[in-house]
Amino acid sequence: MQPASAIQSIHAFRLVAAPVTGLWSLGRHSGWWRKLLWAVLLAVASGLAQAQTLQLTNLPQGSLGEHARMLVEDGRQLTLEEARAQLREGRFRQGDRPVLNYGIGSRPVWVHLEVFNPGTTALAFRLVAGTAWIDQIDVFVVHNNQVSSHWQTGDENPYPYGLTPGVGFTFDPQFAPGRSELYLRVQTNDVLVLPLELTPATKAVANERFVHYGYGFLYGFLFALFAYNSMLFAGLRERSYLYYSLYLAILVLLNMAYTGHGNAWLWSGQPWIQQYVILVLMVLFGSSGLIFASRFLALGEHAPRVLRTVRQSIWLGLGLMGLCIATGYREGAALLAFSFLSLFTLGMAGLGILTVRHGRVAGRYFLAAALCGMVGTITTTLAAWGWLPFTPVSYHAVEVGIVVEATLLALALTHQMRQYQLASLRATQLAGIDPLTGLHNRRAFLERTGPIWSTAVRNERPLTVIMLDIDHFKRVNDQYGHETGDHALVAIARQLALACRDGDILARWGGEEFMLLLPETSLEQARSFAERLRQSIEAQGLPTEHETIVLTASFGVAERRQHSHLEDLLNEADVQLYKAKQGGRNRVSCEETALNRS
Ligand code: GH3
Ligand code: MG
Ligand code: MG
Repeated sequence: MQPASAIQSIHAFRLVAAPVTGLWSLGRHSGWWRKLLWAVLLAVASGLAQAQTLQLTNLPQGSLGEHARMLVEDGRQLTLEEARAQLREGRFRQGDRPVLNYGIGSRPVWVHLEVFNPGTTALAFRLVAGTAWIDQIDVFVVHNNQVSSHWQTGDENPYPYGLTPGVGFTFDPQFAPGRSELYLRVQTNDVLVLPLELTPATKAVANERFVHYGYGFLYGFLFALFAYNSMLFAGLRERSYLYYSLYLAILVLLNMAYTGHGNAWLWSGQPWIQQYVILVLMVLFGSSGLIFASRFLALGEHAPRVLRTVRQSIWLGLGLMGLCIATGYREGAALLAFSFLSLFTLGMAGLGILTVRHGRVAGRYFLAAALCGMVGTITTTLAAWGWLPFTPVSYHAVEVGIVVEATLLALALTHQMRQYQLASLRATQLAGIDPLTGLHNRRAFLERTGPIWSTAVRNERPLTVIMLDIDHFKRVNDQYGHETGDHALVAIARQLALACRDGDILARWGGEEFMLLLPETSLEQARSFAERLRQSIEAQGLPTEHETIVLTASFGVAERRQHSHLEDLLNEADVQLYKAKQGGRNRVSCEETALNRS
């Protein structure tokens, strides 16, 4: 219904409704008369002024902004009588969205609702009005032109009445049979947003239980994440966890502040805290989110300029907020907090996109998380503005978004930790691998052969080592170039690796030297294995574009006997290798006595 036609209907309805409600009280004791009247009234109400008089037995779902009429005070505070006079003069405007919204720094607003109790006894209702940050709220119930109830509360009072049970300020009006009016006068320096829900008292209790369990879950979940991530920081010393915990802690505090839980539980009796706490927490929340993002996305590494801008915005936000508080400029503080938080939301998504474009996987989780948070916030905002159906889910989408966002960020952190682990595992592996040939290097060889040596000593099992060195390799380099020399090393490494059995340990020992450890192998077996290797190296050579370079190698073989350390055995192989070189190269040398024994 358009506002203009709505106002006409209000007048039409008033004309009809007044005599009807008068007749109502006459016929109160007559059942059929009441039913007839009820039917007439319903017909009139639905035809003329459905949006204006709310049937208490058939209340619409959700916030009642579209069924209310409002008047913004023009600077002078109105009394109830004056407001009623203005209503009669048609100065009130019909609501056009479920949640009334007057933005930041609005003048006080009067809200009027008309309700009808078709029964014969008074009905107990619960009215949840507004957000928990409204400074002053007056609620009047007017019946038969008499004020039957009046409440005065708001977060400027210490221990404010009715704070938060259904999340907002909660009142318990009784509506006598017939027509009653509800007047609210609402005043705040912050954003004037006014959800307005009227529920039968019995149903309200069930609804509130749902709401309270919901917040219990939300806080429990976020607190568990906070505690867990703090512990991870204590254990792992990775600062992302610390910043994430901080972000979660401020998120919980901010939610508690704007739902009134903080005022009701933590700082009731200190209205001065309540004055600025939400706004300060909004800026702190944005700042902690940006600090976490900067660390998590490693902005310092790949976007130092962005990092500088982020830091400057944080300092600017905090500084300006300090200034607003110091000068008592509350409206400025509110404007600052809301702009800071909006920029923060966009900034988080922007940072996510930036890091995804840099090809960082962590950025994808982060972006998804930031988008979920954003979708939640936008959904709630749209529901409050009446552009989306106002349902419990759409109204609490911001909290659902928070839970999903927090979960995704936690997942992002675990993903990042896994990446670190893999990287460090890879680094350890690489530390043991020779980059040219892909064989173990000396370090990895010694690491792996230690246990094999001990087992062989304990069980007195045969164990041999073969050390080989390519002959005149310097010449290969000199004649064909270093690159060809590298190819030769790779080719021989591959040949050796293919020839080895499972359980043999092969390593590149140094420049053009290789070492082989053969468990369960006697000196004679090792010698003939070395001989086969020698022949195969000589036979294969290294084919190049123009010719095949002949490569040969010399071998030293040694068997474990009385050696007390593996190093002694390796040294003996080295001695044998020296002998092979001395003996003319391209040959296998091993201990005479051992050979004689076999
Ligand atoms: P010998 O038969 O006495 O072992 O003679 P050699 O020339 O093979 O021995 P020497 O120790 O004098 O020279 C070894 C050469 O191996 C010198 C060095 O430049 C070369 N070399 C060591 N590591 C590499 C490498 O990774 N790539 C290449 N291309 N050459 C290497
Ligand atoms: Mg050599
Ligand atoms: Mg050498």
